[in-house]
Amino acid sequence: TAGRWALTVVTAAGVGGLSVAFLVPPGHVAELLKGVWALPLVVALFAMGKLRIRAADQRVARQNRLSEALTAIGDAASVTTDRAAILRLAETTAREQVGDDTLIGSIRPGPHGPLCATFDSATELPRDNLAKGFLTDVCRIVSVAAERLRLAENLRDEALTDPLTRLPNRRALELHMEQAFVRVGQQGTCLGLLYCDVDDFKHENDTHGHAWGDELLLRITDHLREILSEDTFVARFGGDDFVVVIEDAGSRDELVELARAIRAGPGLQGADRIPPLLSVGVACREPGGGADPDQLLREADAAMLEGRRSGVGVVVFDDALRAQMVAEQNLGREIDAALVGEEFELHYQPIVDTKTLDIVGVEALIRWPHPDGMRMPAQWIPFAEKTGLIVPIGRWVVVAARACVERLGLPIAVNVAARQLAEPRFIEHLREDWGDTSWHLLTLEITESDLLEDLSDVIDSLTAVRALGARISIDDFGTGYSSFSRLAALPVDVLKIDQAFVRDLERPGGVAIVRAIVALAQAYGLDIVAEGVERIEQLETLTELGVPNLQGYLLGRPSVYVPQRVELPFASSSHRAGATRQGRDQAAEQRDQAAEQRDQVSEQRDQAGTQRDQESEQRDEAAEQ
Ligand code: C2E
Ligand code: CA
Ligand code: CA
Repeated sequence: TAGRWALTVVTAAGVGGLSVAFLVPPGHVAELLKGVWALPLVVALFAMGKLRIRAADQRVARQNRLSEALTAIGDAASVTTDRAAILRLAETTAREQVGDDTLIGSIRPGPHGPLCATFDSATELPRDNLAKGFLTDVCRIVSVAAERLRLAENLRDEALTDPLTRLPNRRALELHMEQAFVRVGQQGTCLGLLYCDVDDFKHENDTHGHAWGDELLLRITDHLREILSEDTFVARFGGDDFVVVIEDAGSRDELVELARAIRAGPGLQGADRIPPLLSVGVACREPGGGADPDQLLREADAAMLEGRRSGVGVVVFDDALRAQMVAEQNLGREIDAALVGEEFELHYQPIVDTKTLDIVGVEALIRWPHPDGMRMPAQWIPFAEKTGLIVPIGRWVVVAARACVERLGLPIAVNVAARQLAEPRFIEHLREDWGDTSWHLLTLEITESDLLEDLSDVIDSLTAVRALGARISIDDFGTGYSSFSRLAALPVDVLKIDQAFVRDLERPGGVAIVRAIVALAQAYGLDIVAEGVERIEQLETLTELGVPNLQGYLLGRPSVYVPQRVELPFASSSHRAGATRQGRDQAAEQRDQAAEQRDQVSEQRDQAGTQRDQESEQRDEAAEQ
């Protein structure tokens, strides 16, 4: 370098000067040369040292600047969610620090998958190690940040996408609705919502398997995509529910037309099964309308349910439905309040032994006294089942039934809805509410139609109930069209013949049906109760047919007063075919005790009579004397 050359020259000059000092004759000149020959060297070394220290200082300062720049890029990368913004910042900083305005950064997938940032320059300027190291570090920071953002975006997309249909999911729908409400608010347009639900999807899924269920949902997704314009938002709301959001809904008629096209379903192409229709509920939010996203969704849902219930398929939410919705909301609130205020009552209807007419048990029937009159179960139990309110109601019923058993010691039958049995904590709650003992006095009645609905969850619960020692009765038997083989597979103990069959006994063929049901029950070793017995002729026919237990207005109406066991003089234990063995034994024992008591009482009466006789004899004797 120039410095080295200068040093060599100065050293050579010094050594030359010294040599000259020895060559010239001794004198002043020689002395002077010997004295100063090293001076240029010292000065040169000093100057060089100074220069080196300054260069080192500059290097440290540059290093500090570069590391500060890296920290700034790193900080920005950790807070921003915008990949392009990080790249832009890194590019400007790198240009500044490296002094190359042609630097251009880019982010691409690297050879191993994760994203990779690179900086390319148009100039071929040589770079020192500091600049090269700096650019490598910048690339690394930007690559890591870009990859992190990509993963986060993927996660968010996954969280907002339905994995099967790849449609936006429920959460995405909620977010979209919030934004859509703001947009239509600003534009003063009408927002339309189509709530679509596949008819009989559960049945399709259960009978043809989940693979077909998935296939069906994919076909419906394609069907919706075909009908709707590309920018129309459609989400899978969950299960077999799809929701379409239309932001510039022209008119109701247009929406209805669209809903009708959706209702037709995906058609037959390539399928070996007929895909079901869809029920579609239409709800509209007019400009300035009051509904919020949640409310609008509920309105469209209510319209869809009405469409399915009525079989019409496409229904627009209107004032009548609004009134019905308000009434249901009120009913829900009233049931809540009735639960808190313990307003419900249990009424008990006797179940009797056909031959002896002894009461062998009771059925607990819920009642809701109200200032406007008694609210019968048919008016509100279906609603409670639909909304899940039946779960807390059912728990209250079990507690009240248990209290009745404590008072009376009679077997009790409690009605249970499938919705209750399907609750994951049903058995846990039942044990909590009933207690640890007397399970043999409890029968749970499940309607046959409920048993057909959601079999898997329900069967597990029924098996667990029987393991506890309680019995299961199929209520309203004969109305659900159960096949015999299906019946055999169910964990049940009692068949309760539906009232309709008892009513029809006098009609042609009526007796034959009940006879067939009795034979069926006997073949499977099941107990039988016939309900709805209102007339003596029905009682006689049922006795002849060998139905062991009866229930109905003829034998006792449901009442708050628990019926008392009546001891009839001709009662014999062999007639009590309907009671459980345990119940029978207990009943027989109680009867024996009662008979013993009666004997004791009559003995005491006899003794008292003898005493009285003796006393009156004594009195007579005294009088005579
Ligand atoms: P269910 O279990 O079939 O109950 C028998 C219904 O028939 C009762 O009506 C009863 O009062 C009525 N009944 C009894 N004997 C006769 C008769 O001789 N003739 C006629 N015409 N009817 C008779 P209720 O009490 O109105 O109950 C109706 C339904 O409500 C019940 O039908 C049951 O499915 C449901 N339910 C009642 N209580 C409860 C409960 O605590 N929980 C649940 N989940 N459902 C209940
Ligand atoms: Ca019942
Ligand atoms: Ca019934």
